[in-house]
Amino acid sequence: DSNSILLGAKEFSNYLRTLIGEFGLDSIVTVLESVAVGSYNGVVFHVLPDNVYYVVKTKEDVKKIVEEHLLKGRQVWDLTVSKSELKEAEKFSIKEVRIVTRNIGLIDPRNIDEYIARDGYFALSKALQMKPEEVINEVKKSGLRGRGGAGFPTGLKWEFTAKANAEQKYIVCNADEGEPGTFKDRLIMEGDPHTVIEAMIIAGYAVGATKGYIYIRGEYYNSVENLKKAIKDAYEYGFLGENILGSGFDFDLTVRLGAGAYVCGEETALLESIEGKSGRPRLKPPYPPQSGLFGKPTVINNVETLANVPQIILNGAEWFKNIGTPNSPGTKVFCLAGDINKRGMVELPMGVTVRQVLYGFGGGIKGDKGLKMIQTGGLAGTFIGPDKLDAPLDYDSMKNYGVSLGSGVILAIDDTHCAVDIALNVMEFFRHESCGKCTPCREGTRIACDILEKMTKFQATEEDLKYLEQIAYVTADASFCGLGQSINVPLLSLINNFKNEFEAHVKDKT
Ligand code: SF4
Repeated sequence: DSNSILLGAKEFSNYLRTLIGEFGLDSIVTVLESVAVGSYNGVVFHVLPDNVYYVVKTKEDVKKIVEEHLLKGRQVWDLTVSKSELKEAEKFSIKEVRIVTRNIGLIDPRNIDEYIARDGYFALSKALQMKPEEVINEVKKSGLRGRGGAGFPTGLKWEFTAKANAEQKYIVCNADEGEPGTFKDRLIMEGDPHTVIEAMIIAGYAVGATKGYIYIRGEYYNSVENLKKAIKDAYEYGFLGENILGSGFDFDLTVRLGAGAYVCGEETALLESIEGKSGRPRLKPPYPPQSGLFGKPTVINNVETLANVPQIILNGAEWFKNIGTPNSPGTKVFCLAGDINKRGMVELPMGVTVRQVLYGFGGGIKGDKGLKMIQTGGLAGTFIGPDKLDAPLDYDSMKNYGVSLGSGVILAIDDTHCAVDIALNVMEFFRHESCGKCTPCREGTRIACDILEKMTKFQATEEDLKYLEQIAYVTADASFCGLGQSINVPLLSLINNFKNEFEAHVKDKT
């Protein structure tokens, strides 16, 4: 994956192969490249069947593993990921449940045979023997909801599109993961691209769509590469194209690259962009299931949402509903970011608490600092204080605890940071990403930044602070799309949680 490559994975992998050749181990050792799911400050080597994990930082480390472990069968303890580290999560009574990430780290994502060996494309084969409405019903019964942030029931979305009357329909995968701190979709696509492809074909069969698009961030080079390779192989194996597995169903799939606009994660802006237009949101209704891509009925699902589908079809809706909570079945992939010991991605049942994720898997706050706040759900999510650490993370968290689930980011911030600086940082992002189509968002984000900049210089007045809050409400109420409509969430949660800090930055209070 991209992170491992930055840490030297390619170089280490080549060196490992060279050493294996030099020591004549080629006939007994096979090197496979996969994706690292955990959060380690080096490249993870997983030696099988011994099931030993090493974290490698230098070529010397690679040599040690070959000379000691592969040649002499002796574990290299100073490079081993300790059992206590792996078991840290157990102290917080929580275990990973891998549905979406079940293949990541275990298969070579560029080898379709490895995917097939892990029951890959079995769900497609099963779905093609069901009636399309049975497939939709299974997804509906499972209770699967959109993992991109909105939480809309997936089966219902499929049903709306299936019922729409049109000769051409589309399946679109929203892989434009632009939320700062979020990288789960990238790892899913890098580590298990066939899961997404299989899910899209199943969705196409269920709703009567014969064409699909994966709209992906242009910067996700490795994901794009792996997806393109996977699509090519899926065509060769007869999982894509005409008369799939002899069913009479045809489905084609294309990858489209985005150019880095955050607003293109908004589904209608994304459709505009695929159509070759400027990525700006459309007026809704009509909604995409009625009139989407090129004006045709379209299902738009996020990568993580889709990655659940093959397992739901294979194991059944009841199996899925037994994981997570009654109103939020299944798992959520969380991205751990910020001032924590272990950044990374982890898949956990819905309903885990912020504390379990942050301390069970993130290893707590770095150094000897204290936890000041956590932002959950992405940059448009809420900032919460340590008093909300036991809030469960599911689709009811916002209603019951004022905590966003959103895209699953858990951003920890230590007590050396100033709330006003953080607010400015967030608003600068939204000002930059505002597409400029509507006045409340375009001007609201600019004014918010101006006031916050004044506050950081202790030049703002009490009136400015009041105006900042008004701007948050007006922008939320009057903006055209979700981007502007949600900026009040981070801004007001910061002001409400850290009112004293904001007031301390007002000039007549200093
Ligand atoms: Fe563009 Fe912002 Fe208006 Fe959305 S709310 S249409 S991003 S200006």
